[in-house]
Amino acid sequence: MSISQTQAIVLNRYVMGDSSLLVTVYTREFGKIKLVARGARKSKNQRASALEPFTHISITFRHKEQRDLQTLNQVEVVQSYRYLGEDLTRMSYAGAVSELVNRLVIGEEPSVELFDLILQVLDALNREQPVVAELLFWGFQLRFAMSFGYAPQFEQCVACGEGLQEESLRFSAPLGGMLCRGCRSQDTDAIQVSLGTVRMLARLQAHPLDRLSIIRPSRQSRHETNRVIRSFFAYHMDDTRELKSLRFLDSIDPGTDIASKTLAP
Ligand SMILES: [Zn+2]
Repeated sequence: MSISQTQAIVLNRYVMGDSSLLVTVYTREFGKIKLVARGARKSKNQRASALEPFTHISITFRHKEQRDLQTLNQVEVVQSYRYLGEDLTRMSYAGAVSELVNRLVIGEEPSVELFDLILQVLDALNREQPVVAELLFWGFQLRFAMSFGYAPQFEQCVACGEGLQEESLRFSAPLGGMLCRGCRSQDTDAIQVSLGTVRMLARLQAHPLDRLSIIRPSRQSRHETNRVIRSFFAYHMDDTRELKSLRFLDSIDPGTDIASKTLAP
């Protein structure tokens, strides 16, 4: 056992017993860990507010290797994203970020790149207008997949390498990118995607998150983008489960396919 110090992002938390919290965090040095914060729910305890979801914190904890639960010693707030809690759309997408990380990151595999990416998306969701939250979430998902080594190809045909100029394009999750008209028979289950959506996907993938807010996708592009990303996650990351955090948005905005009931194609 040793005492470790690191920066962390709170993914979620649960009440444990009368006075403690069970907190899942993504840390800069140790990947995802679960912490017990004893006594954190007692009155006048500052730790409860520091352990709110999506807070960027600095922690020290008793680190026992091969153990599922670690014990929190101290916590300080580095940055809290207060607008996330004040708007339902922002909060839902921040929740979806946390849910995806919690679901797909297994155990203590540190990635500074992923840690920075989570901070970037929370910061952008906090700062930008709620109307661009969906775009930010798409950008996050594409980068998140890239942090696992999966980068879908939106710039050229994944089979022949030709540039994508015409309509009648298809997205193939198994092949990992777009198919041109001449190659689309290589995957008969591939999803039809308009050229405008393909160009937007390429921008979402290439541009920093804080430069995405100028994109204004059409309803068709939103629908196609959600299908493409869902099918990619379902195929490569084996993730077909519904994102609970987006359920409510979906129920109030069903016509736009904003939240996409499940991640399955
Ligand atoms: Zn081709």
